[in-house]
Amino acid sequence: MSFEKLAEMKARWLPVYLVLLIAVALLAAHFVIMYFLTGNAGYANLALLSAFAIYFLYTGLDRLRKLKITRTRLVEVVSCDACGFREERDFEAGDYVFKPKGACPKCGGPLAVTAVYSLKEQL
Ligand SMILES: [Zn+2]
Repeated sequence: MSFEKLAEMKARWLPVYLVLLIAVALLAAHFVIMYFLTGNAGYANLALLSAFAIYFLYTGLDRLRKLKITRTRLVEVVSCDACGFREERDFEAGDYVFKPKGACPKCGGPLAVTAVYSLKEQL
C-alpha cells in the first residue's frame, strides 16, 4: 500500500477506535452501576464482556498509534561554484554527482549536482 494511503487510513481509524473505546467504557460503567444497584448477575456478565471489548479496542488503538509509516525520498543538491548558491531538489532519474544542471539563477554560472542522498520521512 502507498505511503499516502496508509497515512490516510491511520488518520481515519484512530478517531473511530477512540470513539468506540469511550462508548464501550461508558457502557461498561453503566453495567457495573446497574449490577451494584440491582444485584442482578446478568449485569456483571455484561460488564465482563464489555471489559473484554475495551481490552481489544485498546490494544487495537495502541497498535494503530504505534504504527510507523515511513518512506524514503531521494534528494539531490545542486550548487554553483562561483557564488555558493545551493538548492535541494527531488532527485531526477539519470542524475549523478558532478552532472551539469544548467545555469545558476543568481549569477548565471554553471550549476552542478553536488550530492545525492535519501531522506526518511515518517508520519
Ligand atoms: Zn551562482
